[in-house]
Amino acid sequence: MSTQKIALVTGGSRGLGRDMAINLAKKGIDVVLTYNSNKTEADKVVATIQSLGQKAIAFQLDAGNVKSFDAFLKDVTDHLKEKTGSPNFDFLINNAGTALYALVNDTTEAQVDEAFNIHYKGVFFLTQKALPYINEGGGIVNISSGLARFSFAGSSVYASMKSAVETLTRYLAKELGSRKIRANVVAPGAIETDFGGGHVRDNKEINDHVASITALGRVGLPDDIGGVVAFLCTEDAKWINGQRIEVSGGMML
Ligand code: NDP
Repeated sequence: MSTQKIALVTGGSRGLGRDMAINLAKKGIDVVLTYNSNKTEADKVVATIQSLGQKAIAFQLDAGNVKSFDAFLKDVTDHLKEKTGSPNFDFLINNAGTALYALVNDTTEAQVDEAFNIHYKGVFFLTQKALPYINEGGGIVNISSGLARFSFAGSSVYASMKSAVETLTRYLAKELGSRKIRANVVAPGAIETDFGGGHVRDNKEINDHVASITALGRVGLPDDIGGVVAFLCTEDAKWINGQRIEVSGGMML
């Protein structure tokens, strides 16, 4: 059996997922990444990973459309079988996601359904359906948010889904231990990406405010996160299981 490790990263075309994919490659891990609509950016990440000497490929995935997951996983596992002789991979990084800002009073049923589909139901069923293909000794990293610990008005639904994913992760760790598969959560603080229209990055007032409530005195960058996720996919992290690791520079301590 090949000892080459392979990670599947959802939402690897931009932002945090892009940085995770590149940092995984820097650790010698091959990467299957997904994009939703931005194939051009996904192809650039694939090229970057290949220039680092690792294998990479991008597939389209709508993380909120559970009905598409069987066909998606068939494409991924057929590809891996053809290239490696086995359909299996080692790590699943559930990162893809979109922002939702709405006060409780203003939130619609459609917004709750969409957030639930992308941030919880999609994570649950992609994991369930991927599990038969995850090698013993592999792992799952789910991406939560600092907002599951502290509160900003307008994030009730989004943050609740992230809290649910944190609880799910603990249960995954409990149930998958017998297969030697670890499950952990990485919870970033506010990071400068395109997320939510890029307002944390582009709105000076918000950027300054986040910096002022962060012990290390600045807003997070994608590069602050990817290396932590990649670390969780190494042998050095082999005893970390069922944990929530907040990576926020000490936001709202
Ligand atoms: P970005 O908006 O920068 O990137 C989002 C990524 O997810 C892109 O690759 C995008 O693909 C993909 N994506 C978006 N919607 C879907 C969908 N419906 N199905 C599949 N893929 C999708 O966001 P970030 O990198 O900032 O966020 C990544 C994760 O980190 C999310 O889970 C987010 O909740 C979480 N997070 C972000 C924080 C932040 O401040 N940025 C803070 C805490 C957590 P495409 O390029 O094709 O659009």
